[in-house]
Amino acid sequence: MSAGPVVVVHGGAGSLESEADRRQYLVGVAGALDAGVAALADGCAAAVRAAVVFMEAHTIMNAGRGAALAADGTAALDAGFMDGATRRYGGVTGVRRCMHPVLLAARLADEGDFGRFLGPPDVDALPEEFGVPACLPEELITARARAILDRRLAAKVTPGAAPYLDTVGAVALDANGHVAAAVSTGGMSMKRAGRIGDSPVVGSGFWADDAVGACVTTGVGEALARMGTARRCMQLVADGLSETPAAAADRALDELIEFDGDERGASGLILVTRAGDVVLDHNSPEMSGGWARPDGTRDVTHLWRRPG
Ligand code: ASP
Repeated sequence: MSAGPVVVVHGGAGSLESEADRRQYLVGVAGALDAGVAALADGCAAAVRAAVVFMEAHTIMNAGRGAALAADGTAALDAGFMDGATRRYGGVTGVRRCMHPVLLAARLADEGDFGRFLGPPDVDALPEEFGVPACLPEELITARARAILDRRLAAKVTPGAAPYLDTVGAVALDANGHVAAAVSTGGMSMKRAGRIGDSPVVGSGFWADDAVGACVTTGVGEALARMGTARRCMQLVADGLSETPAAAADRALDELIEFDGDERGASGLILVTRAGDVVLDHNSPEMSGGWARPDGTRDVTHLWRRPG
């Protein structure tokens, strides 16, 4: 679908545990779209920040407070942001003292010649430096996230196996033709302490370029990082290597699994093109997401993998 300014969000490509959880994810997606569209008049960067901040605060989602926990029981958050007009980007990893790491990533985009990707220990100083509210590490942890980790540890689940909760992300196109991308996550549930997936890594977890569009990914971080999927997908669009943006998304996602010959890298993505085409796509079992335009048109949906 193509029609000018739009906000697109996803609530992640992981497998959820119940229908009640799926409904709550859709509440998060709908709220993020409302927040994103309300901010769109201030530009696409404001829109993606507002959408992701909403999902970081929606504690059932895997971002901000309530994020998936590492195997050692700690919450260490990752986030990324990119502005398509300037191609400046920011990334943070291992955040333990802030409920809204996307705001830190967005501010880091202003640093240096191209932006900045920062991890511990200095990442813990950013809330004070940028005037973003800080929190204690334990304030990121909810009873639900702890219970999920305990169940998985007791069941001796392989780290990274489903259900692993979900990253959240947003892309937007504004009335001036600019695009932006933002992503936030606790990473894969039961991850090894210190592990970094795709989400905060520019080109893998997110990409935005006004000449083409913007994309954010969700799913198996190691597979997405290996293929640089966000940039790869938008390059397929830019070079016309796929017939449509939807076909480019299909191809970028197929590349995550075809080399291995199995589904371990199955993931998802959302994208918006400079023309306003919107794609939500996944080869994981399920993914929640939606889009909304300032004219009031919108869609909020839980996607299931197509048979075959
Ligand atoms: N991509 C995230 C990571 O690997 C997890 C997710 O999207 O669910 O950290």
